[in-house]
Parts: sequence; C-alpha cells; structure tokens
Amino acid sequence: MTNIAEIADMDRRTVLHPFTYLKNYSAGETDPTIVETGKGVRIRDASGREYLDGFAGLYCVNVGYGRTEVAEAIARQAYKLAYYHSYAAHTTEELARLSDRLVRMAPGNMSKVFYGLSGSDANETQAKIVWYYNNLRGKAQKKKIISRERGYHGCSVVSGSMTGLSFYHDHMDLPVSGILRTGVPHFYRGAMPGETEEAFSQRRADELEALILAEGPETVGAFIAEPVLGTGGIAPPPAGYWPKIQAVLKKYDVLLIADEVVCGFGRTGAMFGSDLYGMDPDLITVAKGLTSAYVPLSAAIVSQKVYEVMEEATPRVGSFSHGYTYSGHPIGAAAANAVLDIVERENLARQSATKGAYLLQRLKAEFEQNPIVGEVRGVGMLAAIEFVSDRGSRASFDPGLKVGARISQAARNRNLIARAMPHGDILGFAPPLVMTEAEIDEMIA
Ligand code: PLP
Repeated sequence: MTNIAEIADMDRRTVLHPFTYLKNYSAGETDPTIVETGKGVRIRDASGREYLDGFAGLYCVNVGYGRTEVAEAIARQAYKLAYYHSYAAHTTEELARLSDRLVRMAPGNMSKVFYGLSGSDANETQAKIVWYYNNLRGKAQKKKIISRERGYHGCSVVSGSMTGLSFYHDHMDLPVSGILRTGVPHFYRGAMPGETEEAFSQRRADELEALILAEGPETVGAFIAEPVLGTGGIAPPPAGYWPKIQAVLKKYDVLLIADEVVCGFGRTGAMFGSDLYGMDPDLITVAKGLTSAYVPLSAAIVSQKVYEVMEEATPRVGSFSHGYTYSGHPIGAAAANAVLDIVERENLARQSATKGAYLLQRLKAEFEQNPIVGEVRGVGMLAAIEFVSDRGSRASFDPGLKVGARISQAARNRNLIARAMPHGDILGFAPPLVMTEAEIDEMIA
C-alpha cells in the first residue's frame, strides 16, 4: 500500500523540483502529484486518479506508456551488460546498430553520432563541435551562435544561453557571451498588417542576413533553431521560411544546427522536421522521442562535411577530447532500438500526419470562434491554442491573470493534461503519437 502522505512529506522536504514555486511547495500550499503507472496515453497517480496525457510527458513519450517490448529490451540489455563506456572505441552491438540506423534515417548527409543524456547536453556538444570545427579550419574567430527569440534549446550553460526566453536566464547570469538572437517566425504575432507569409519569411531572412553582416560573417559559426518552434509557443514556420533561411546560412558559411529534440521521430508528421521543411542541416540534435523517454538518451548527429574536418585534424590535435561516462550507454541504445522498431513498424510519422490533421481540425472546429481564442495552430501531433483578451487587436491578457495556466488547470481538473506553455497564454497539445481518434475526441470533449 502506498502511503501518500509519507511520500508527499519526504518529497516536500528533500526534492528540488524543476520549474516549481519553491516556497509555495515547501509551505504545503501545493501538493505533489505522485505518478505511479502509465499505460497507452494515460497516467495514474497514487490516489488512483487517471489522466489523459495530452502532452506525452514533456512531448517525449511518443510510443505511449507501458510498452512491454521496450521494457523487455531494457531488461535484456541490463542482464547482459548494464554498462560499459564508449571511450577509445569500446562499443556494444546495440550502440553500433543504433548509430547505423540513425545515420541512415537522418536528413542531410550525416556521418557520425555522439551520444549524451539530454537535449541540453547534446546542444552543449553541438556548440563545442561548432567551435572545434572552426578552430580546426583555421577560422578561430568564427564562433558566434545565432538563435531565435522564443527558441528553446535547454537549460545548461550554453544551451540555456541559446534558449531565447528571458525567464530561463533571469538571476542565473545567462546568456553567456557569443550568443546572438534573431526574430522568431511566428506569423500571427510577428507579421505586419497585410504582409503575406512569404513576405514575412523574407523579412526574417533579411534580418538574419543583416545580423550576420553587422557582426561580420567571419565571426558567425552557426544558427540553431527548432524546425517547428516548441516551448516558445508551438508555432509552425510560415511559408517559405526554411528555404530563405537556409540560403542565407549557405551564403555566409554558417552551420545549421537543427534542434529536432521535439520534432524528431514523427512528431511533425514526417520522420524529422527537417524532412518536412526541406532543411539541410549540418548538425542535428535529438533526444526525447529517440527513446520515447523510457531511459535518458540524446544524440548530436554530425554531417560528413563537419566530421571530415574533425577526422583530418587527428595527426595535429590527437584524440577528440569530449565525452561523458554515459555516452553511448548500452541500455539507452537498446531502448532506442526497441522504440525505433515501433516507430517504423507502426508507421508513427504517417500516423502523426493523419491523426494530427484530425486533431487540428477538431481544435479549430471547437475553439477557433471562441471570443478569447486568437489562434489555433499546429502541425502533426503538435498543436496549440493561443488566448487573447481581444481578437481584433490580438491583445494579450494581463500576465498576472495567468489565463493559460488557469485553463490548463481547468483541463486537469477534468483529468486532461494540456500544457500551459511557459511563454504567453498558450495551451499546448503534443499527445503520444499512438493516440487514437477516439482518444482525440475524448481530449477535445
Ligand atoms: N531542445 C528542444 C527543442 C527542447 O524542446 C528541449 C526540451 O524541451 C531541449 C532541447 C532540452 O532537452 P532536455 O530537457 O532533455 O535537456
């Protein structure tokens, strides 16, 4: 029997929870949700209450909860060999198989996969690879990294600095130097009156070019972006955005880091967001859907173009001196292979496209005309409702009213998890890709 009060008390006294109002929690004003089990698209707490998980945890449990074949793959590997490191060319069968399939699956001309444990650390690795690559090419000045306002790339020192949301920086001495910011391509919020999507995309590309020229192209190493803006408000790019951005990057020899942590492995209705938008990344970051979060695993995937420079420098610089104890952890690799088997066998990218279209159509039909709804948007199994106080002027609510958080709470009171996105009054939906149409109907209801 679970002793709920005892667990809650222990937790309150000892766990430093992410993104939690610390004093309210320790003072007992808010209670923990003790999550006990998960099956399919639902989780159950210790009191027996069941929730429909409309956000797949943190948009990561793509294959759904409780998939026994993933648990069994993890157990099999743990019994056989729970751990060995991957330094100095040690490997396992699962690791080699996973890397081979990732290089084949990934968009662009990818060559090698470096493993970490979180999207944040993988983006940290990407920044180091950009610096390393340009040092090795004799372009020691070409180090600045451009990210977008409202972009999200993690919470560690460099990834947190690349994140373009100021509340992740406040009181924590971020961003560090060398990280630049350019505009977010959210048409509803950023377009000028009468501007077309193409014209707005062109304006964003022109701004990027102007920034690169102002800084000096010889100082700009990379541009990092999510194919579809995620945590900053779930906003698919306007028409023409990616080809126009890509052209600017190629013109100035600036690497493109596609942060596919959310978009990767089917979320947008294609296997990768880069596939959907015809992007040609030099570096790709994946995490979340890679193992559907059954165990922590992330990867920085490196193109042939970048890798070649790294390899050729070996006689001069010696070994590639970057790595973690858990890089290429065999249990992570086994979990990823089992998850990707499901993603491929069940055609989850295609399912995400068709069921995502249904989800968006239902959300629009039910909510688009609501007087406090400004925009209903989405792509694949990724959707959002943005609330406004005035539809005509698109005016936001007073942030103190916490409208998004209250609507999310109201959904939760009805046993639905839909995430209040941390920026603006935006309710996010990113269900497991296995959610059925009947379950989507239940979520909408
Ligand atoms: N990149 C993107 C696009 C993300 O959405 C996230 C997390 O939500 C991260 C990176 C950071 O990943 P993690 O939380 O695993 O460090």
